[in-house]
Formats: sequence, C-alpha cells, structure tokens
Amino acid sequence: KPTTVEDVLKIVEERDVKFIRTQFTDILGMVKSWAIPATDLENVFKNGVMFDGSSIEGFTRIEESDMVLMPDPSTFRILPWRPKEGAVARIIGDVKRPNGKPFEGDPRFILKRAIAEADKMGYTMNVGPELEFFLFKLDADGKPTTQLTDNGGYFDFAPLDLAQDVRRAIDFALVDMGFRLEASHHEVAPSQHEINFRFGDVLSTADNVVTFKYVVKSVAYHQGYYASFMPKPLHGVNGSGMHSNQSLMTDGKNAFYDPETSDGLSQTARYYIGGLLKHVREFAAVTNSTVNSYKRLVPGYEAPIYAAWSASNRSALIRIPATRGIGTRVELRCPDPACNPYLAFASMLHAGLDGIKNKIEPPEATNVNIFKLSEEEKTRRGIESLPGSLRESLDIMKESEFMKNVLGEHTFNSFLKAKNTEWDDYKTIVHPWEIENYLSIL
Ligand code: GLU
Ligand code: MG
Ligand code: MG
Repeated sequence: KPTTVEDVLKIVEERDVKFIRTQFTDILGMVKSWAIPATDLENVFKNGVMFDGSSIEGFTRIEESDMVLMPDPSTFRILPWRPKEGAVARIIGDVKRPNGKPFEGDPRFILKRAIAEADKMGYTMNVGPELEFFLFKLDADGKPTTQLTDNGGYFDFAPLDLAQDVRRAIDFALVDMGFRLEASHHEVAPSQHEINFRFGDVLSTADNVVTFKYVVKSVAYHQGYYASFMPKPLHGVNGSGMHSNQSLMTDGKNAFYDPETSDGLSQTARYYIGGLLKHVREFAAVTNSTVNSYKRLVPGYEAPIYAAWSASNRSALIRIPATRGIGTRVELRCPDPACNPYLAFASMLHAGLDGIKNKIEPPEATNVNIFKLSEEEKTRRGIESLPGSLRESLDIMKESEFMKNVLGEHTFNSFLKAKNTEWDDYKTIVHPWEIENYLSIL
C-alpha cells in the first residue's frame, strides 16, 4: 500500500495506470467520483482538482460553489475488475475551499475533527465494522429486484448457497484492493451475506467502508447480481446491520482492558459505554439514516430496540465480545450499512469521549432478555427505546446540542434539511399495507 505521493507516482508508472477516479462522499454517504488522466496526477497532488460543489447534497450555496479536492495518497488503489493494461485506479480526497481551508461540510473532515478531539485526550480509535448485505437477481433490463439467489442460511455452504461463487469473486477483489479479510459467510436470511475485514484506525476504516460497498456492488454486478446494503429489503427475515466494534488505544495499549476488574473492562470502557448510551438517541438519525432503517430495528431479528448493554445478549444495543487484552472492544449494534460511515464513526467517538470526560457511569449491564422485562422494570433499569422512525430520530437530533457540535452547524443544518425532505416525501405515499388493510373494509 502506498503512503506518499512518490509511492503513488511510481505505481502509476509501473502498472501503466491510465485513469484515476478521484472520490469523496456527500453528507448522505453517496460516493461522488470523476476520472482524471494519470498524466494530471502529479499536478493534482500539488494543487488539487477543482469541482462545482453546488450540485452536491449538503455542500454549498450557489454563490460559493467552487471546491477543491486534495487526494490522500494513502488511499490510492488499482481497481481489480478493470483491464490490466491501461489500468484504472481510485483515490479518496479531502474537500477544501479554494483558499485551502478544510470545507466544514466534508464528512471526512468531520471525522478528522473527532479524531483530533480524541488525540487531545490521548486516545486513538480503532473500528471493526461488520457489514451485511443481500445479493439479488437483476431483471432483464439489468435493474435490481428483490428476487433471492438462494435459500441458504447462516454458515451454510453448497449446494444451498448458490451465490458462493459471487462471494468468492468479491473476496478476491477485496483482497486485491488491500483488505485483510477475517470472515466471509452466508448470513441468517436467504440471500444475505456478511464479509468481515480487519479492524483499523477509524479514518482508514471509514474509507474502507465506502470502498467495501463499492467493490461488493461492482463485482456482484459484473457477475450478474445486485448487492444491496438496504437495511431491511425483505419483510419477515433479518435485515442488514453494520455492527461497529470499537476501542480506544492509549500508549500502545487498549484503554478498554483492565485485568484487575471482574469483567476485564476498564473504567474508561465503562464511561465510553455510558457516553454511547447517553447519546445514541441523538445520533440515531446518522447511524440509522433512512426511512427503511427503522423497519430493521424491530423485535425478533437480532437487531437492537433498547438502549442497553450486555456481555452477550443479542437483543442489547451494546454487546461486549468475550475477547480480552488487546482485542477488548465494545460492539454497537444499531448502525446499518446505509449510513455515512464518516459521520457515524464521528458521532460514536464524540459520544464515547463525552462519557469519559464527564464520567458517565452506564446503567447496570442487562443480562436478561429485555423483551421479557415489564415497562416498570425497564424504567427502573434506565433502559430507553431507540427511536421508532426516522421522523422521531430527526426530532430528537434537531434539539441536540451534542449533534450540533459533532457535525458542526453547517452539516447539522444540511443533514436535517435533506432528511426532512426524504421523510416528507415518504409520508405522502400510500403504502401497500394500507390498501391491503383498509380498501376492502372502509
Ligand atoms: N442481521 C442482524 C442485524 O440486523 C445481525 C445478525 C448478527 O448478529 O450478525 O443486526
Ligand atoms: Mg452478522
Ligand atoms: Mg456482530
């Protein structure tokens, strides 16, 4: 993997790279990309490449539309599914204003600001996300459907898992792109898969999430399938999550581990959990950012509904995997893969740091089935529900000083505006459920 401009220029020369796709994401997590000829690259590293930000979701007003993308050499990768001769590569960049200042609406910058905050307190964050997705058939026009490719289940293999060749092709492409894969398997629902890659520092992991989705979708499409990261594409079976395993490092040690305590968790880990639980309802609009996200957060499908934590309980929002020592971590289970990973990780990090700064003790761990607890018992234990809809999440976020600080005024406002529009559009649609349940009786 390259780290410097010189490394990149050398690879471009050696591998005969002809075009480079420069990339960044908008606030909704959509990848924006355009190609530059490799001959321009050296200059682009120096001066960036100018683009019109006015047409990008959540970016700028018309009168201040000029933006500059400054590529980050460490993100340079050759795209494995393109021809070997006249290869194509991609590079991720930071969005700047023409005067060279970082643009406050750039999700990567918002994450970098959270990282700087952690750095001030002596921490670096590691994240290991678990992305789940469905493989569906394409129709005759090449459009995605929700038709299944198999009837496989968790950890099944041939002959039920008919899409395993596709998954293998995806695995190879990911490895070519520099991913270190840890597990790749069929998930609980038919046609559902999960591929885990190795955890890393939070910035490269956010870049990796964006790249991962793009690689999975591209390879699936080349094989005649559609890969979807929609949180709940099918009613009645599991949805797709992006469980986020996270830990803080300090002085080369895992700050969440303490061999002296009964559960091996440090006080820092406990405060971090306290911060996540305190702020999760405020950042849910970011981690669970679509109308569809809330159809996943319902009982019965291994997705969380309550803001509680536990060592093992899969109905809890936060699970503490059994590993201790350097691998000690907190698994936040609400995020789904439709989120913008830069904004989602920035929210989690700020929440955890706030817990540490303000010594927020989490409520006692819930090692019983939360669905069996009475309302009174949940109140006594301080267990709140996650928001039930995008509407509820946006209403909570709107009042949140915490989120205003995480996103910065600019993105806070543009995010709410974009998502309110999405909700308003959805709310006027007559749903098939309404026709089925009302038409024949009303
Ligand atoms: N698919 C489940 C979810 O929606 C998670 C299953 C698992 O534990 O991996 O979060
Ligand atoms: Mg899973
Ligand atoms: Mg998990």
